[in-house]
Amino acid sequence: MRMAEPGNTDRNKQLNRSLVLNIIHKNGPITKAEISKELELTFATIGNITSELIETGAIKVTGYGQSNGGRKPALYEINWENNYVIALDVGVTKISAAIVNLKAEIHARCDVEMENSQYDLTFIERVFKAIDQLLSRTDLSHLKIIGIGVSAPGPIDEESGKLLSLPNLQEGRNVTIKQQLEQRYGLMTVLEKDANAAALAEQWFSNMQMKENILYIFADQGIGGGLIIDTRIYRGFHNGAGEIGHMSIDVDGPRCNCGNFGCLEAMASGISVIKQVKKEIRRGASSSLAEIYLQDEKQLTLDLIIQHGKNGDPLVKNVLDQTGRYLGIGVANAINFFAPSQVIFGGQMIDLYPEIVKIAERTAKPRFFSDAASRINFTNSSFGFDASLIGAAAIIQQKLFDKPENTIIK
Ligand SMILES: [Zn+2]
Repeated sequence: MRMAEPGNTDRNKQLNRSLVLNIIHKNGPITKAEISKELELTFATIGNITSELIETGAIKVTGYGQSNGGRKPALYEINWENNYVIALDVGVTKISAAIVNLKAEIHARCDVEMENSQYDLTFIERVFKAIDQLLSRTDLSHLKIIGIGVSAPGPIDEESGKLLSLPNLQEGRNVTIKQQLEQRYGLMTVLEKDANAAALAEQWFSNMQMKENILYIFADQGIGGGLIIDTRIYRGFHNGAGEIGHMSIDVDGPRCNCGNFGCLEAMASGISVIKQVKKEIRRGASSSLAEIYLQDEKQLTLDLIIQHGKNGDPLVKNVLDQTGRYLGIGVANAINFFAPSQVIFGGQMIDLYPEIVKIAERTAKPRFFSDAASRINFTNSSFGFDASLIGAAAIIQQKLFDKPENTIIK
């Protein structure tokens, strides 16, 4: 761990504050003497910082340790229930806003659908509507809100806080969402790609053991990826990392939305499942969905298709098996390059059909190059449909522990 010398400069003070907060998170309940020993900082420095953190409500005393003759020393812990985040998840079909505490517990939530009746509102007006409704339903008098975390499908510019484009919205180009939310609500706002946010949620809030290096596969209508390397989000040059959906799986495969052919997204996403089922029905495949397709093909949603697959429809089962195999091949490629300790699957496809992870795992394992890779854990997301919403809260949580002065200490 990086140590800062005790000193008077602001930078040292900020770094020390972050170190103390992190050690209390990691080892709490903990005494000042133990923090001082662990960080090799003087008892006086730790005393100043813990007093300040108590005053701001970031930590609290939760008991007393063994006395060495004098007074019993106080034990410090993070004050998880005292601090809240506004989490905002921009999805393809809806915007979700929630008030979440630092243990990822949702205190209140509000969803605004992207349906036709909303089209008189601009995108940012819909975002404001979701948050305003959320705040109007919540008694804020005893809650301390420390920031707004926003998760959204890419591409984004994380640094300037802009959504570079939005799915299904013509107006959604270069939306300065961070700036507009900060202006309206006066709270620090941080933007992150949804798959990265979902990966961060697992890192902060799940009970998994090995979560320093996570590959998060967001298998939804499209396919996204999130990467955590040594506990930090890895974004790559201009936020370009993690686009596992555009890894080539079959050079002669179907055309992808990105213009290339045979991308993982074109072969194993929710949209590709719908396309394949329709195509096979047109070709005359026998399926319990054929009648519905002929009446109104719009009714063939991913949800309905997967329901029929679970009820034993042979066409759907074949398509889902094949989809799971393609996912497994994509994941095996990523694992051979990056060797994460955990591969976590989330998104609508996984929520509706969790068994697909087993198929992907069976396909991926024989393709691992390193023997150690067979010990990599494949798991489903701990947060189901709310993975990227909880991820939005995790973004602010990480900010708090990195730079408490931007969130909790104003
Ligand atoms: Zn593509």
